[in-house]
Amino acid sequence: MRQQELLGKNIEDVQKINQVSVLQTLRQQPGTVSRKQISSLVGLTPGTVTNIVRDLIDAGYVIETGYLSGKKGRRAVGLDINPDGFYVLGVRLSRASIVCRVFNPHAEVKLSKAVTIEDFEQTQEVLERMLDLMEEVIHESQVGPKLQAIGVSTPGPLNLKEGKIAYLHGNTDWRDVPIQQMVYDRFGVSTIIEHDANAAALAESLFGNGGEIDNLFYVAVGRGIGAGIVINGRIHHGSLGTAGLLGHVCVDYNGPKCECGGTGCLTNYASSKSFVKRMKQLGIAGEKIEDFVHLAEAGHPVVQEEVKQAAHHTGVAVASAVNLLNPQVVVFGDEMTWFDSLWFETAKETVLSRLAPEISKGVDVKLSSFGQESFLLGTGAIAIEHVYQNPIMKDKPKELNV
Ligand SMILES: [Zn+2]
Repeated sequence: MRQQELLGKNIEDVQKINQVSVLQTLRQQPGTVSRKQISSLVGLTPGTVTNIVRDLIDAGYVIETGYLSGKKGRRAVGLDINPDGFYVLGVRLSRASIVCRVFNPHAEVKLSKAVTIEDFEQTQEVLERMLDLMEEVIHESQVGPKLQAIGVSTPGPLNLKEGKIAYLHGNTDWRDVPIQQMVYDRFGVSTIIEHDANAAALAESLFGNGGEIDNLFYVAVGRGIGAGIVINGRIHHGSLGTAGLLGHVCVDYNGPKCECGGTGCLTNYASSKSFVKRMKQLGIAGEKIEDFVHLAEAGHPVVQEEVKQAAHHTGVAVASAVNLLNPQVVVFGDEMTWFDSLWFETAKETVLSRLAPEISKGVDVKLSSFGQESFLLGTGAIAIEHVYQNPIMKDKPKELNV
């Protein structure tokens, strides 16, 4: 038996578990519910629910919404999550930009600001810019102490145990960056960091399919390539927190050496960064991926062929991942998907053609429902979930000894 299973629970732990259960129940109920309904849904006595609800109302998480109609006898008062009860800040740091967004408990946006990054290699400058923008957004949104969590999604891999960006492919200064501590030191608010592909995967699994998807594989094909893995409704992080490094899966073992130590890594064939590099090698004019999207749309045959090649390589790696993980849905997002069906149809066809028919017919391969929004939506959702799991309760006044 594992040590964890032997541990007992103190009364404070039980109290917190019950508070979280009531909050989660309220969250999941469409419309408002009564204390009595919560009591039967959660399996706690009406008296216990009354006490917990009182504490949650005092702490600002729950509001009373008036009498529920259609009730016989003593009329019940409806309860709901307070949309103004707390706020979280979701931050997406990418190689191209920083976006900061304040969300309410329903993941609705209160304020959003973005800046572009001129030179991502300037690690310290980029981090300072991020912290300044966060401060600006917190200040302007006027959420004050209602800001209860900050979620930051970044490219990876991350060392989640130490709250650091472990290293970034092709950016040598981005190594062992203690980003979680930096944010916490500046704002003193609970801070959660997450690999951006994981954040996007969570957003897709929660909101992307008109219903929750428990097993989903999200592939961010941007300047790097990362995958977010959702298994049984939870992000799979692996032992160090680096799971999902799809960009360093080998697609050609005779291929060029990669800085990770491997050879023929996918990222060197299929990321948007390597695509732009390839275009330069071929002498095709353009700087950014958008330039080549326009050329492809205008029918440039070489650009179109290279897009298909990049998509094919991605599909090869993703087919292996599907064989390993058996997700219900595979979602593609980020810059290379801006080539739309030219890229997507090739990637999808490659994935499905490399799976046994029994497996391929059970997997839905699709483009992201939210585009670039999925990263921020997922980051906000992670921070909101953190608050729901760790509500900050007001200290009760001590009982007087009289
Ligand atoms: Zn590699």
